[in-house]
Amino acid sequence: MAAIEMKNIVKQYGDGFPAVNDVSIDVEDGEFMILVGPSGCGKSTLLRMIVGLEDITSGDMVIGGKRVNDLAPRDRNLAMVFQNYALYPHLTVYENIAFPLRLAGVSNEEVDRKVREASSTLELDEHLDRKPGNLSGGQRQRVAMGRAIVRDAQAFLFDEPLSNLDAKLRGQMRTEIARLQRRLGITTVYVTHDQTEAMTLGDRVAVLKRGVLQQLATPRELYTNPVNLFVAGFIGSPPMNFMPATVEGTQVKLPFGTFAIPQENASKAKGKGLLIAGIRPEHFEDASVMDSSKTQGATFRTKVDVVEWLGNEAYAYSPFEAAPEVQEQLNQLGRDLDSEVMHTQLVIALDSSSRVKEGDEAEIWVDTSQIHLFDPSTGENLTVDRSAAGTLPEDTSTQDVARQQDSIATPGEQEAATEA
Ligand code: ATP
Repeated sequence: MAAIEMKNIVKQYGDGFPAVNDVSIDVEDGEFMILVGPSGCGKSTLLRMIVGLEDITSGDMVIGGKRVNDLAPRDRNLAMVFQNYALYPHLTVYENIAFPLRLAGVSNEEVDRKVREASSTLELDEHLDRKPGNLSGGQRQRVAMGRAIVRDAQAFLFDEPLSNLDAKLRGQMRTEIARLQRRLGITTVYVTHDQTEAMTLGDRVAVLKRGVLQQLATPRELYTNPVNLFVAGFIGSPPMNFMPATVEGTQVKLPFGTFAIPQENASKAKGKGLLIAGIRPEHFEDASVMDSSKTQGATFRTKVDVVEWLGNEAYAYSPFEAAPEVQEQLNQLGRDLDSEVMHTQLVIALDSSSRVKEGDEAEIWVDTSQIHLFDPSTGENLTVDRSAAGTLPEDTSTQDVARQQDSIATPGEQEAATEA
């Protein structure tokens, strides 16, 4: 096991576009690190640079204290688990797990010891004589991990391993990966575009946008203290509500009312003109079912046009008009996030005991201490508590991007990286 340090990593492909732009991430020994972001943000490229399948244009990749930029994939001793698990259908589970050891010429006795040790950890003992085709998706994944374990790899690298699975299996596999990683305590880097996987699996999460690291923090820090509009919109489901806001004194004016906000937040937003406010759906509630202990916050009345009741929770939708001045920023945010950003309706998470129904003029409570205020021109969260927002990347605007070296790992090297 080993720590992985990425220092000012840059990757430029042939056309000069920086797919990864000055990214620095320290993965601690035994840590579960998630690289997350929408399609094209550079997360797979970063993972492939760790494993050695992609050349690094500039910066240092340090694994277990050793700079590996010029090391071939097979010499990095990392185990990559792919979406399709890359198992050999004609080999038994035993031989699939044993494969890298056979390749390395390990004695039969040692192979047997290691395979049995791995299969016991992975609860595969009773399946050792079966072929992959007869196994469930979860069992196949464990075989793929077994193959990684017997190599005593320094780290596990996962590239969207669950994206082919249906939602139910995905949930099960997620729990299984989390459990195994905790049990094995092996350094893990996991790429996904799914914020739920990122939030549930990661010790820490690195959020990337167009090759640039936006924020590196624990799931809780990301959720409570997103540094900008992008992170705020990406993390959380359903997503944060965004709306125009102006601050006067200690009051914020929103489309559905004017509310007192904490002095500290108001002063950070002073003199900034029209802002974008962000409030998570769960920071609203039907005032009539409110727990009396929640005394902070304020209430307002709003027309609810749709209610979705899901059994354990419910969502109310309330239309509003966003000022045209912020609509373009929110449309751009939607393009960045690869999803539409609603700026015409408020999504309110209700307790399942709420009786609010469609057409009601409902009294809604809002936790005014949880109103984030963003600068519309830079996207910066003006109200963020920086001391609780994790490690923030340095400004990359003046970054001098070095030229690309044009050698990419050969297919043979790719195979070696996964099987040797
Ligand atoms: P996805 O989730 O769609 O796989 P990603 O976040 O993993 O996306 P990358 O595959 O790392 O993103 O790609 C990052 C950027 O680099 C994209 O703009 C992509 O078009 C570009 N890119 C990736 N591979 C190459 C390549 N071989 N040649 C040129 N550009 C590439």
